[in-house]
Amino acid sequence: MDIRATVEPLFNDEYKGEPPSKRLLGYLQTQREKGRKIVGIYCGYAPMELIRALDLVPATLCAFSNATIEAAEAVLPANLCPLIKSSYGFIIKDACPFFAISDAVIAETTCDGKKKMFELIAERRPMHVMDLPQLPDEPEALDNWTVMIRKLQRFLESTFDRTTTDAEMEGAIRDANAKSRLMNRVFDYAALNPPVIGWEELYDVLFLAQGASGAEMAPILEGILAKLEKRKQGGYAHGAVDAPRVMVTGCPIAGDSAKVLSIIEEAGGVVVAIDSCSGMKPYATPIEERTGDPVRAMAAKYLKVPCSCMTPNSRRLTEMDRLTEKFRPDAVVDVVLQACHSYNIESYKVGESVQKKQGLPFLKIVTDYSQNDVGQIRTRVEAMLEMCRR
Ligand code: SF4
Ligand code: SF4
Repeated sequence: MDIRATVEPLFNDEYKGEPPSKRLLGYLQTQREKGRKIVGIYCGYAPMELIRALDLVPATLCAFSNATIEAAEAVLPANLCPLIKSSYGFIIKDACPFFAISDAVIAETTCDGKKKMFELIAERRPMHVMDLPQLPDEPEALDNWTVMIRKLQRFLESTFDRTTTDAEMEGAIRDANAKSRLMNRVFDYAALNPPVIGWEELYDVLFLAQGASGAEMAPILEGILAKLEKRKQGGYAHGAVDAPRVMVTGCPIAGDSAKVLSIIEEAGGVVVAIDSCSGMKPYATPIEERTGDPVRAMAAKYLKVPCSCMTPNSRRLTEMDRLTEKFRPDAVVDVVLQACHSYNIESYKVGESVQKKQGLPFLKIVTDYSQNDVGQIRTRVEAMLEMCRR
């Protein structure tokens, strides 16, 4: 059953059925008209609270379309991750509206492809590259990442001719934590059995939440929560009541790579948890409040982002254990973008943990942004869901 055909949509009058990217763009354009500056980001390590404490607005830049890859391949190697090629293609084709309204860009040294791509776009906007420690459990990692956030603070302060205080950063941390709590309450409705929200609606909420602050999102999220509660009380189910529940983990996916999520639901499953930077990951860890050193508190939170560029990335497995407990999936799908070596190699450990520790079927899907492998993915997903039904 398509829940949107039978129940009140989560967003209605205020957005008139616009796609989430358009809503987010509209929000950012309004902020710009009010005189606020926009900072483009590409990664889950960008410290959003610092950006907000400086009264800047973060904008996640385009990275999820196959349409820009051909242009990118004129410069970048074809055997590079599609996310990097797509991001670069958007820039050289002047096709990313979020980049067009960005006054500066924050970059990080995550994977090799990304950091080299940043060099190629560095001249187009004021850009600051943060040197990310990649051994998160070493004692100096927190000190080093704290220094990097302070350097970013100086870059943003000098670029935008303003300063921020510890009190403002504390305020931004409280605001972010409040938003995370509300977002997790929305995720609770995906954890229900059966869930009352599907991945497309979750993405609608996630998209808008990327740009808006906690205070701006609070009334929207409270409204959404009220509608979800109504669905729950009304006995609605997203998907068939006995549909296999799937947790999706791995590389960020959206736009053309969201084909995997569509295929899972078309094949009769329901996506109940999305363990990636385009999904629930940004809301997983709160930032400690009132520590007396908000920059260090931010550093501690972001160092816990369980990305495969970290080694060891043991936090990913513990986080997946937590999600398994909460969302009770019947199977796990690990989405690896082609040529993403770190997520690809890490998939072995993830698969072992899912199968041996959780006792769940595990499917690794290596894909790109094209539609060429849709049939093959569908066959493999159907086979996995069949195992869940036995
Ligand atoms: S997966 Fe890693 S590199 Fe990619 S956005 Fe997330 S934190 Fe950044
Ligand atoms: S998916 Fe992998 S290769 Fe692509 S940008 Fe993210 S970490 Fe880098």
